[in-house]
Amino acid sequence: MKVLIATNNTHKVDEIKTVLGFEGWDYFTLREAGLTSNPVEDADTFLGNARIKALAARNAALAAGMTCAVLADDSGIEVDALGGAPGVHSSRYAGIDGDDAANNAKLLRELEGVPTEQRTGRFVCTLVYLDESGQETAARGTIEGRIGYEEEGDGGFGYDPLFIPDCFGGKVTLAQVSQDEKNVVSHRGNALRELKSLLQ
Ligand code: IMP
Repeated sequence: MKVLIATNNTHKVDEIKTVLGFEGWDYFTLREAGLTSNPVEDADTFLGNARIKALAARNAALAAGMTCAVLADDSGIEVDALGGAPGVHSSRYAGIDGDDAANNAKLLRELEGVPTEQRTGRFVCTLVYLDESGQETAARGTIEGRIGYEEEGDGGFGYDPLFIPDCFGGKVTLAQVSQDEKNVVSHRGNALRELKSLLQ
């Protein structure tokens, strides 16, 4: 079965392909399909935004005469000391969509003076899968941790260099572990495993 992944973020695509390895599923991205889909993500929940992305990608595929299932993800980081911010605004926290360096700098500024025990938070990922008939299955995954005081590590993407998960002894950021190690514990990995069990 052909499954359109409604993102062009290569990190996300790699995680999805690795964790959701169903026999006979053939994944392709919007770019690989020559499709454009950039809907306004204006819902106030991760589920709402994942749904917007999934439906927009499905409509783009249908308009191009393609029959396929669709998988969309919306994700972000919630910081308790900031009342859950940046949350659904994670990718454009500092103003420009996808500017990881500016987003990380802003997060550190907002947490200036906040002590270690109050720097808790989590990554959240919500997945929306639409089968070929458009029927929806949704799944959610999280990973708990805290925000460090400076960027550490050069793996991963986004807020990974600032996020210290509780696993791995609470000593390293997600940018300091391998992609395989991240997949085993990450919000996206957990959401994908949940989706896999719902679809099986
Ligand atoms: P989305 O592409 O609209 O889901 O935006 C997600 C944003 O949340 C990204 O731009 C990152 O800033 C952040 N984010 C989501 N997942 C991760 C992750 O696994 N590591 C680091 N940052 C992430």
